[in-house]
Amino acid sequence: MDKHCDVLILGTGLAGLFAAINIDPSHQVYLITKTRINNSNSLLAQGGIACEYNENKELHEAHIKDTMRAGAYLNDEKAVRYLVDKGFAAVKKLVSLNVNFDFDRENNFLFTREGGHSTRRVLHSGGDATGFNVIRDLKKALSTRKNIKIITNTMALDLIKKDNKIIGCIVLEQEAKYYSIYAKKTIIATGGIGSVYGSTTNDLNATGDGIGMAYRAGCEFQNMEFVQFHPTALYSEHIVSRQRFLISEAVRGEGAYLRNVEHERFMEKYDLERMELAPRDIVSQAIYREMYDTWTDHVYLDTTHLDPKFLEKRFPTISNFCRKQGYILGLDLIPVAPAEHFLCGGIKTDLSGKTNMDNLYAIGEVAYTGVHGANRLASNSLLECLVFSYSAAMDVNNTVDTVMEKNEVSINELPNYNYNYKPIRKKIGDYMDEHVSIVRNEQGLKLTKRTLEGIHDSLDKYPNLTKYYYETLNMVQTALLISSSALERKESIGCHLIIKQ
Ligand SMILES: Cc1cc2nc3c(=O)[nH]c(=O)nc-3n(C[C@H](O)[C@H](O)[C@H](O)COP(=O)(O)OP(=O)(O)OC[C@H]3O[C@@H](n4cnc5c(N)ncnc54)[C@H](O)[C@@H]3O)c2cc1C
Repeated sequence: MDKHCDVLILGTGLAGLFAAINIDPSHQVYLITKTRINNSNSLLAQGGIACEYNENKELHEAHIKDTMRAGAYLNDEKAVRYLVDKGFAAVKKLVSLNVNFDFDRENNFLFTREGGHSTRRVLHSGGDATGFNVIRDLKKALSTRKNIKIITNTMALDLIKKDNKIIGCIVLEQEAKYYSIYAKKTIIATGGIGSVYGSTTNDLNATGDGIGMAYRAGCEFQNMEFVQFHPTALYSEHIVSRQRFLISEAVRGEGAYLRNVEHERFMEKYDLERMELAPRDIVSQAIYREMYDTWTDHVYLDTTHLDPKFLEKRFPTISNFCRKQGYILGLDLIPVAPAEHFLCGGIKTDLSGKTNMDNLYAIGEVAYTGVHGANRLASNSLLECLVFSYSAAMDVNNTVDTVMEKNEVSINELPNYNYNYKPIRKKIGDYMDEHVSIVRNEQGLKLTKRTLEGIHDSLDKYPNLTKYYYETLNMVQTALLISSSALERKESIGCHLIIKQ
């Protein structure tokens, strides 16, 4: 059973949903998602959306400057200017779709501050439930669009390629039930890569699928070595899940401190000017150093000097979760440690989200637009999703053909058998945690690359038409791209800290 549509979007996070809603209603859109719409990193976003919600040139310049500084100036300045200049209109569009943000008694939006920002410019919703509220409201807006069909529990396996053109995607609906969807335009919006590491703040569906399928199709990649670790994931000795609960940087934005296990505030040793609100690469590396020096695997987030009532109201999701773990914001020190959070590099695109393959776009976290450089500025990611999915949608609207080319490409039959990939996935995570995380050295990177190549060869030899096989293949290909890029970059910069052994 093959299917045809005008525009095929892979993934239902903010990037995928916002692109879909901006496609002209005369075009048939298929939105496919691996599990439920609600499984995405977008839904988990707490802090908010960084946006100068005004036309003030000086404030826009400051946002550009902060983004470049956080990215260690490896950003593409043209892309950063595009992000900030188009950001106001993109967020306004979101607001016009009845997506609500928090406001004060005079109906002015409330803004918070996060690491690396020189002003309070982060819009939020439901206190710390920004992602949840934005996705909920967008889903409502989408439900009125007759041209958009959402297909859940369906995994994109491989792009269908004809010459240098992408003409759709092979998808897996259930184990062994696969078919082709042919499309005039295909948009990859599959998000991050958290599951490639042993501990992550990401939804565990983030197995680097978009990266893997783009790699197999011949897409170009950039800056894959820059993997951002969030400094403050909740720590517990007893956690068994690889997914770690995030404590938003906005908590530090509202005044929380970091202390090592000896209860000393330490950020002044690493960034005297910005202290706890330094960009994430600096704070994560500082925490790593403190944990190393004190022989522990966590530090503390200290909110005990802040008003517990204010914290509870401002951060309801975080307060609730912490309370269940036995910690009360404003009263207890909260144990935290860094965890994998965000891929700054990805599939290389232009400002319209176009990749090097004809009719293929990449948007959201899976894409490298040039915005983040060596380290992402907090809350710029949701803004990037909005700005670049909008520009991709506009490009699609302007260029999509009116007539569907007749395409029937035969798919190779694949075996389908029961196999447990869990030990392989664990091994990938262990190597990435040990050698390709906050601190790296050449020897560890080489060892990891060799190990991953071995895993890759054995997966390649024994293909298997299951979700777990493809996820594992995508994980190892993503991990290989990260470790190979890390080996090529000899100097320490941003999220890539390389030391001599
Ligand atoms: C805990 C947490 C908090 C965060 N807080 C913030 C914040 O406050 N501000 C900010 O700017 N950023 C934040 N981020 C980062 C930001 O949320 C993400 O970078 C952004 O949401 C990515 O959006 P996306 O649409 O690209 O991907 P996602 O939202 O992750 O969506 C990807 C979609 O693709 C689907 N998918 C994946 N593989 C396949 C496949 N093979 N086939 C079909 N579907 C597939 C997934 O199921 C999902 O629907 C946070 C991230 C996390 C994890």
